[in-house]
Amino acid sequence: MRTSKRIALFICTLSVLCTPLYAQTDMKTLGDSLFAYTGFSRLWSPNVRVKQMRINGNNVTIHTNATLHDYRWTPDNIADIKRKVSRWTLGHENGKVTIYSSNVDIETLITSCAKIKNQKSPITNSAGEADLADRQIVLYPSHGLYFNKDREEWIWQRATLWTTVEDLYSQEYVRLIREMLVNAGATVLSPRAGLDQQQLGASGMPQWTEGARYWLQSQKADSSIWNLYDGNEYKDDMKCRAMWVNSQECLPDLCLAFHTDGLDSENDSTIIGSLAIYTAKDDDGYTVLRDGRDREKTNRNLADWILTSVTEDLRQIAPEWTRRQLKEANYCESRVPVVPSIILELLSHKNMADMRYGLNPAFRFAAARAVYKGILRYFNGPQAVVQPLPVQELAIGTDGVLRWLPTTDSLESTAVPTYYMVYVQADNGEWNVQQVEKATQLQMDITPGVQYNYYVVAGNEGGLALPSPVISSYRSSEADSETVLIIDAFNDVYGPEWFADSTYAGIIPGTYACEDRFSCAYIGQQWNYTRKDMWVNDDNCGWGACYRDHAGQLTIGNTRDYAVQHGQVLKSLQRSYVSCTAGMLNYKSKITTALPIDRNHKLIDFICGRQRRPIDGATYGALAAYLDAGGRLLLSTDHYDAIDANWAKRYLHATYYAAKATRSGKVTTHRSPFTIRLMMEPNDVQLFTPAPQSIMPTQEAKRLASYEDMRCPAAVGYEHKTLVFGFPLEATQNFDANYRTALKWLLEE
Ligand SMILES: [Zn+2]
Repeated sequence: MRTSKRIALFICTLSVLCTPLYAQTDMKTLGDSLFAYTGFSRLWSPNVRVKQMRINGNNVTIHTNATLHDYRWTPDNIADIKRKVSRWTLGHENGKVTIYSSNVDIETLITSCAKIKNQKSPITNSAGEADLADRQIVLYPSHGLYFNKDREEWIWQRATLWTTVEDLYSQEYVRLIREMLVNAGATVLSPRAGLDQQQLGASGMPQWTEGARYWLQSQKADSSIWNLYDGNEYKDDMKCRAMWVNSQECLPDLCLAFHTDGLDSENDSTIIGSLAIYTAKDDDGYTVLRDGRDREKTNRNLADWILTSVTEDLRQIAPEWTRRQLKEANYCESRVPVVPSIILELLSHKNMADMRYGLNPAFRFAAARAVYKGILRYFNGPQAVVQPLPVQELAIGTDGVLRWLPTTDSLESTAVPTYYMVYVQADNGEWNVQQVEKATQLQMDITPGVQYNYYVVAGNEGGLALPSPVISSYRSSEADSETVLIIDAFNDVYGPEWFADSTYAGIIPGTYACEDRFSCAYIGQQWNYTRKDMWVNDDNCGWGACYRDHAGQLTIGNTRDYAVQHGQVLKSLQRSYVSCTAGMLNYKSKITTALPIDRNHKLIDFICGRQRRPIDGATYGALAAYLDAGGRLLLSTDHYDAIDANWAKRYLHATYYAAKATRSGKVTTHRSPFTIRLMMEPNDVQLFTPAPQSIMPTQEAKRLASYEDMRCPAAVGYEHKTLVFGFPLEATQNFDANYRTALKWLLEE
């Protein structure tokens, strides 16, 4: 009796220090199992260390270090891990388990929505009032040019890699997130200049390239905010952002610092992925925000909403996308603000696997939308209505009816448009807007002799989508004028092409992204392809290093308004025209009233631009029927090889011949003495075509133009019925004149 009592006492005491004799596992193994459960990588996460394990009958209590703080806990996975811990320790799943991470019960780490009613105006969710109405959000891109006193030079804060630099790359995301938040009703503030603030800054570069310190200085903010470190402007720039947040008379509802990280992975396929950083205590050790809420809990909630949204959405594009951690760490951008604040490290700008995605504008749009959704849910919970995706397809017919299609969001059941804003511009005047409830068409007033441009913005309780492409129409006052149909089939955006072997890897020289409208992130071509070249400093940054000759210039991509550009020339020729996006060609099967292709159209102008995605079968069918009925077609593209070869041979009378058909960009025409010059490099004026193609006429057709340097055909015509170019006309200098010449050739009787 005595002996057994002593043994029991001994076990009790010992259990605090090490594994009790009757537990099924030891603390080291349990820690390893918990770590495996999180799926974290040992590259950047410390192991889960079990510091205490107490077993008392059916009760299990374990204390661990803080690693479990980095995980997203939900009621479901907490129940699951407790069952597992019960099984690991007791041999069955019915134990009562309590798990502490750094002295905090993990139950309290379940992310909740902020559920804070806005002080200024409570959320009503009524139609027409967007879900973030009256929220004030601080959102800013990381870094920016700063003046380095020792070097007496303006320099970037980060390395220039993979054709970009974090200082500008972050700006690219922020401009999109800002637009989405504003469309949800929020007021978005930034201590760094945005792209619309484009005068030159103190550096001689546009203000949007510079750090926040200089923007605040130029805005006459109090120098106590931005002049903090006695001429160390790098440190000023880091700290001034949060200082500025705290100086706001009306404190914002949250603050997001948007960054990318600078880590490498061990191979080409490992994604570094996304990390959210928050801070539990401020400089003085306070654990509450200005409004009294718990700093750690609130900031961790915010971090989790955004990180979860980003990870879930990016995994739709990149299933292997890595969710890193919810990391509690001490950085001034998340420590100093007295309002909820986090740092998001979206991806690693140094890691090739991340940037293979990160240079694609479609990926950046998805990431930006995910951040917007994360912010929305932080405020309003998981049921919040998400603003619709942009309308992509629209048409204006000869009947004067504007028609459009909503874009389905496969990720969000709430992102359904309930109304549309229809924008109309007459002869380049002001845009007038009209709201349409539910319907997807609108009869337009058309005055002959006036050019009209149109776009549509979808809306719902969550706010407004980004705008649709712009289309256009014009009715000549000459009553008998036949109508031209412009089909805008250029809806592609994409990143550059990549290669990788065991010694060299990177962006294939001469390949470039096709940006969505434009980008501010491209700074110059990659020149270092050698894997073994290590980073030495930011000016000698090894593998991935790129030139900087383009920094501070925008790069024009797919501007989605080509029908307007073409239409202006048609109008100058007094030619009536209507226009649509290519997706509307299938519209007929969905809604019987719409019929964009009319066999009586004088000409179809089929705009392909830099479209890489193949044309769909229905479009081939519609164009074939039109051509069989005697129609005329103009088509220009630098991806002629994306068109079905047999179809191209039969209907366009030209076959794909050769890639990279010119370097000089000079095209000589056979009929007239003038030379067409192609824009082949990224620029801030118009579309460029990095790789025109040569096309070969079939026996019945004629070569009408050639690439001067390569001496192979650039344009093919057939009986004034079809005219095809191996480059996008939109990428030619003097587009108007070139397009007018092409039209005249086709419209000759
Ligand atoms: Zn950064």
